[in-house]
Amino acid sequence: KRTAIIAGNWKMNYGPQQAASFVGEILPALSEALQSQDSVLCILCPPAISLAAVHAILNIPDASATPYIELGAQNMYFEEKGAYTGEISPLMVRELCTTVILGHSERRMYFGESDELVNKKTLSALNHQLRPIVCIGENLQQYEAGETDHVLSAQLRGSLAHLTIEQAREVVIAYEPIWAIGTGNAATAEIAGKVIHHIRQEYQSMYGAEAASAVRILYGGSVTSNNIAEFMAHPDIDGALVGGASLKPDFVDIVRHTV
Ligand code: 13P
Repeated sequence: KRTAIIAGNWKMNYGPQQAASFVGEILPALSEALQSQDSVLCILCPPAISLAAVHAILNIPDASATPYIELGAQNMYFEEKGAYTGEISPLMVRELCTTVILGHSERRMYFGESDELVNKKTLSALNHQLRPIVCIGENLQQYEAGETDHVLSAQLRGSLAHLTIEQAREVVIAYEPIWAIGTGNAATAEIAGKVIHHIRQEYQSMYGAEAASAVRILYGGSVTSNNIAEFMAHPDIDGALVGGASLKPDFVDIVRHTV
């Protein structure tokens, strides 16, 4: 059985001070929710500048205090160091995080990230012992034209090329239909489940049955504590990448309702 993941993508919200006070506020309830069910991994992904503040609050070396809470970055560059103004490297991320979100649709849309770039970042993350959460998803026009499966297959093959079988097992994929992000208009569990099933089949043709059954595939797009249970009930959906609701105490309820 694949361990479920609930990841909170804070996007460009909460600097170090707000991040620390928010995590301080939800931490007791979050720890309790996680302790009462040992099958969920919770990953907080604040802005890069707030990672250290959240790391300090989580007191991560004391694993018993806050079990199953890990940290993730929202992006990184693929090089280890050098003249890349404004970027952070896998080595830097690795100091505080286990995970890095890559290829989010907002990165692709506003910052021109291509499948090829996302692929370089994915390989770099894996080579630095970071768990990439690689995002793919179709836009409304593609969805309405019935192109979803085709678009996702291309993104998958482009963003997740050249992995070893071992790496293919460790990657996490997030299916985030762009039309469902920040709209309050979540996909139904049935639609998301069907698409994620397609993604898993495509992945099987890339890396074989074993990797396809090991890889975790999350749903993202207007997830709240009201709909998480429906998504989790689908056998192909292994968790959620949560945006807006991860900035509120509702995030704890999402974790509570993840089975
Ligand atoms: P919302 O949960 O705000 O729709 O955002 C989803 C998302 O983009 C997470 O990466």
